[in-house]
Amino acid sequence: MPTPYNMAFACLSCCKSFKREFNLAKECPAKLTCPDCGGAAHNFGRDFKAPKRSDKRQWDKIRFLFDHGFRFQKIRVGSGHHDVVPYPETMDEAREFVVKYKKYAAHVD
Ligand SMILES: [Zn+2]
Repeated sequence: MPTPYNMAFACLSCCKSFKREFNLAKECPAKLTCPDCGGAAHNFGRDFKAPKRSDKRQWDKIRFLFDHGFRFQKIRVGSGHHDVVPYPETMDEAREFVVKYKKYAAHVD
């Protein structure tokens, strides 16, 4: 049996994150329904660490990154593509980040 993975989903309206287990070989939805507001809770992958619900600045940063096509997917640069770029800690860093790594952004619909 393949190992199920815990994927983090986050609702950017509620500032809330929750985990769901998926067998990635079978399915991995890009979004689920937020249990609180019924809106979209987006898949931010296995490595997403949600800030505190009260930490508006961190959630603003996540929303900003998301709007620019960054959903905490791994970004690898350098020779052999072994170096994973860390996600920005602050909004200022995030503004530089989305420009610098624009080509790695997911397509935003
Ligand atoms: Zn919600």
